[in-house]
Amino acid sequence: MAREYLKKATLTSQSGASDVHETVQGILDDIEKGGDAKALEYATKFDQYEGNVILTREEIEAAKDLVPQKLRDDIEFAHDNVRRFAEAQKETLRNIEVEVVPGLIAGQKSIPVKGAGCYVPGGRYSHIASAIMTVTTAKVAGCEHIVACSPPRPGVGINPAIIYAADLCGADTILAMGGVQGVAAMTFGLFGLPPANILVGPGNQFVAEAKRILFGRVGIDMIAGPTDSLILADETADPEVVATDLVGQAEHGYNSPVWLVTDDHALAERVMELVPELIEDLPEVNRDNARAAWRDYAEVILCDNREEMAATSDEYAPEHLTVQAEDLEWWLGRLSCYGSLFLGEETTVAFGDKASGTNHVLPTSGAARYTGGLSVHKYMKIVTWQRATKEGCKPVAEATARISRLEGMEGHARTADIRLRKYFPGQNFD
Ligand code: NAD
Repeated sequence: MAREYLKKATLTSQSGASDVHETVQGILDDIEKGGDAKALEYATKFDQYEGNVILTREEIEAAKDLVPQKLRDDIEFAHDNVRRFAEAQKETLRNIEVEVVPGLIAGQKSIPVKGAGCYVPGGRYSHIASAIMTVTTAKVAGCEHIVACSPPRPGVGINPAIIYAADLCGADTILAMGGVQGVAAMTFGLFGLPPANILVGPGNQFVAEAKRILFGRVGIDMIAGPTDSLILADETADPEVVATDLVGQAEHGYNSPVWLVTDDHALAERVMELVPELIEDLPEVNRDNARAAWRDYAEVILCDNREEMAATSDEYAPEHLTVQAEDLEWWLGRLSCYGSLFLGEETTVAFGDKASGTNHVLPTSGAARYTGGLSVHKYMKIVTWQRATKEGCKPVAEATARISRLEGMEGHARTADIRLRKYFPGQNFD
């Protein structure tokens, strides 16, 4: 491969991960021992919040009244799209039934987990869309109890638009608690909540680490850490659109990598000129995030041809992948590692982030090599069942007895023997 780095990252999203583990483990241990009181103590420490943590219906209605009508309409539009996409996903989970041997029928069905804990990040930005993405999919899956959990703003509480979205999308409880303490409250069943069976949703490194540690005791969708995005662009791409899209994703956080992979040197140079200018034009908070992300984490990679571009992209396995190049069908067929793919200039990552219907909770840091993003399927347990007639039981029991004895598992063998003796008396099965 002859790829050339016109800009190389000095940090990766894994940098500094080790201290986070100790911090998070300590908080989880404390809260498990100290219960509600300890969780409240951490809420005060990290979010300077001492209000009600389980919102009452009156508080929810009062918050909803604060949301302007146009924003309500937009939230409803986004919810409708995410719900319709999730419903179509659920259709693909058909129950199956197959006669494996004559008289023995095996089946598979999907059962939703009972309790979903949806983390809606809210430290840096108010992620209204995360409430839509996580709560809607849990509702469509059929979870019995859905908690939406989000950090309160100091002294004020959760952003009213997040409350509006969580309530609209079907949250049964809204928990005003962020970070590790929020994740712990949902998992341990604090404040009278039923313990969650699955934790979903993105979050910062503390949230991601808490989910990683608790996995096993509770299910998780994936580790959705700092957002990352890659753009594949050829000579047909518009450098201004490419640069704007890179900056749009770099504003997520100081540690959000953005990568440009291209086979056009002139395009790469032009994008590298434009990005710093576009960053300087952002409001202050966004500018600081995007500036740091571009300086430390961004890369611009020049390849010889589109095959090399696609191979490079699959190696990075980005969370968000955009193609601004000719022959979109070729790219759709060729690319295999990404959380969500955006084909052509007419769509963009922000559409998927906010409103187009596909989920924005997606695998980061290369996890797209082994998983896709949040979908209805993540809330479903795919379980199997079987039943048999006496005739169907016979060949399976004979094989089971022989295999079990060879393995040294006499108890297993006898569960087969007893059936053969009972259903086929007088026959010899040695
Ligand atoms: P957040 O809600 O994840 O975290 C805020 C919480 O962090 C606070 O409530 C506080 O309790 C805790 N915290 C802060 N400092 C702490 C410390 N020193 N020790 C322990 N806890 C501490 O919000 P955020 O920080 O804005 O992060 C949101 C993240 O979610 C970003 O990284 C963003 O890129 C990511 N995101 C990812 C996706 C995706 O699909 N992958 C989508 C949206 C957002």
